[in-house]
Amino acid sequence: GSVVIDLKNAIRTIPDYPKPGVQFRDITTLLGDARTFRRAVDELVQPWAGLKIDKIAGIEARGFIIGGAVAHQLSTGFIPIRKKGKLPHQTVRVTYSLEYGLDEMEMHSDAVLAGERVILVDDLIATGGTATAAVKLLRSIGAEVLAACFIVDLPALGGVQRLRDMGVPVRTLVGFE
Ligand code: 5GP
Repeated sequence: GSVVIDLKNAIRTIPDYPKPGVQFRDITTLLGDARTFRRAVDELVQPWAGLKIDKIAGIEARGFIIGGAVAHQLSTGFIPIRKKGKLPHQTVRVTYSLEYGLDEMEMHSDAVLAGERVILVDDLIATGGTATAAVKLLRSIGAEVLAACFIVDLPALGGVQRLRDMGVPVRTLVGFE
């Protein structure tokens, strides 16, 4: 079958997780299969092979797994964007809204130099609250965010459009309505 169908079939849906009414898209099954893990990474990097990219930024925690593989494939550095309080050195921090209340994420202030070209990676984009906050964080220290990529898009929640409205090109592989 097509790559997209293979990837979509490799993702497991967990009803009512983490709370009633939510359909959680579980990518651990995709990651656990050698063929679909490699295919997902190959598809994510495809538009950027051959371009000059300095760093991949991955969002905790599933963005670390995918972003690390993407960084290796593109021969770039990797930088972690983490929940607050996890990074040992000086950080920059951004506050963003979750469904209930606010949260904060941070990265090391010296993780990217001004003008460096960065691609943001996470497993899934829903409302885009997490990814737009990560873009703000990267831009706050002068990074150029070339693109953002995700294995899964939930298009009904509008996150991809929010990122595009900020001027960030977006690549996603699989959509779930
Ligand atoms: P957003 O901020 O776009 O609303 O939510 C995206 C963030 O929440 C991502 O970091 C993603 O890992 C996590 N997330 C939300 N819903 C799901 C889901 O159904 N499956 C997975 N794997 N992650 C989710």
